Amino acid sequence: NDFRTSLSRALALATRSFPLCMRSLHYALRDQHHLRHGGRLQYGLFLKGLGLSLEQALTFWRTEFARGSIDPEKFEKGYAYNIRHAYGKEGKRTDYTPYSCMKIIQTNTPGPGDHHGCPFRHTDADLLRQRLQSHRLSSSEINQVMEYVKGMHYQLACQKYFEFTHKVEDGAFGLSHPNQYFEESQKLLS
Ligand code: SF4
Repeated sequence: NDFRTSLSRALALATRSFPLCMRSLHYALRDQHHLRHGGRLQYGLFLKGLGLSLEQALTFWRTEFARGSIDPEKFEKGYAYNIRHAYGKEGKRTDYTPYSCMKIIQTNTPGPGDHHGCPFRHTDADLLRQRLQSHRLSSSEINQVMEYVKGMHYQLACQKYFEFTHKVEDGAFGLSHPNQYFEESQKLLS
């Protein structure tokens, strides 16, 4: 139990360094106690990249799903395999790596009820504006981000968002990966 509490505390603390794509997944999971396959993969591999071990990952997902309608037995039957698979313990035993921005932007477009994908690419422009507003960006900052979105420069839009939310003038680090976003953010925030 201690382990579960400290893990969820650590994660709650870490979310301030999550890029928008992972925040969406984090909050959807926390609110609905479930994520569909695409979301479990995208978020699960990101967490693996943060250093979550297989055992920690199983505990994390099992606990979160149990808060909804999926009890541990159902979890074991329907979900644990996929998590072990992502850690290379089942099937072809490929040790999967976390998805890059390109992969998230270009493949597996989310449908209704999905929370994976890249918000700068896959979220409707009005909704995206609202989200940026809720993260306290000013209208001029939002316009700058949306200019990049309009030009289909999603990673640059995300990078601008990073600069505004971390109060750095030119934080260009050539964003290409959500885990890189996390690490760059931790350097500034911790
Ligand atoms: Fe996530 Fe990359 Fe999209 Fe940023 S650009 S929200 S890190 S997928």
